[in-house]
Amino acid sequence: MSHLNHLDLTRDALSSSTLNQALKILGDRWTTQVILGAFLGIQKFDDWQSNLQIPRHTLAQRLKLLTHLNILQTRLYQDKPVRSSYHLTQKGLGLYDCVLMIWSWEQRWGKDSLNIPKQLHHQNCGQQLKPQLVCTACQQPSHIRDLHFELHPNRQLMPTVTEQYRTTRISVADTPGQQLGLRVDRWSLLIIASVMLGCHYFDQMSHALGIGTRVLSNRLAQMIERVFLICEVDLNDTRRRFYKLTPKSRDLLGYMVCLSTWASRHHLHQFSSIQPKHTACGHAFVPRVICNTCCEPLQAWRVQYREHELSAS
Ligand SMILES: [Zn+2]
Ligand SMILES: [Zn+2]
Repeated sequence: MSHLNHLDLTRDALSSSTLNQALKILGDRWTTQVILGAFLGIQKFDDWQSNLQIPRHTLAQRLKLLTHLNILQTRLYQDKPVRSSYHLTQKGLGLYDCVLMIWSWEQRWGKDSLNIPKQLHHQNCGQQLKPQLVCTACQQPSHIRDLHFELHPNRQLMPTVTEQYRTTRISVADTPGQQLGLRVDRWSLLIIASVMLGCHYFDQMSHALGIGTRVLSNRLAQMIERVFLICEVDLNDTRRRFYKLTPKSRDLLGYMVCLSTWASRHHLHQFSSIQPKHTACGHAFVPRVICNTCCEPLQAWRVQYREHELSAS
């Protein structure tokens, strides 16, 4: 397969990936925060508003969106929806692995000021828990070095030219104040995905992601500053720069594969264009998040939070 063909394949696989589709609907910072709040037990509009300091209009929009997506539902009371009480649906509860991966990542790389629980406690085994990403087939802990990716663009999910990567105007700025949720935006995650798929040069990323050179170079500079990428001079051609992932960005794999799997199973009901394989066992890599002590899969209602400052009632 020629070089250009492989880049075209990467471009088509990325744009039609379930990861990209999921980030379009959930990759927004406020949306993620509202979901995390729901998993922390927040149910009422005013509690989200006061805990997240989210503008009322924005919060109303996000709750409407999440209800529309059947991730949240309003509680029925005497056959009338009570507008102010929101609960996770089965589909919403399916996002728990993603939430645990966000929690792990933020514990490791986020700032102390982040308003998330400091400890998780597993009722099944009675121990403090660290969520661990494993391969469903062999149950072994998995990292990016254990995976390789097969690309099979899903034509059903291929965006039209005009809608490709639209709705991406998301600020990269770290807003001060209390925050929940992953503070890594959609574009950064897509750039990281492109590097995971083997795009290490500027022109490769630009082609695979369809981003203009000015926007991309701004992006890359920000990501280098935030230590998501390392840029090195290419030893074979000193005019070129080689971009590599860092431990911080490689650690986002768990969130990305869990989100992609959720979107594939629960939202789009379509196979993902990017199919990870677990090199160690040879099976398709289906992520599972387990307790590091008892190795049981984790359910939201069996995990307690400790030391969190949210005053959810
Ligand atoms: Zn495996
Ligand atoms: Zn356990």
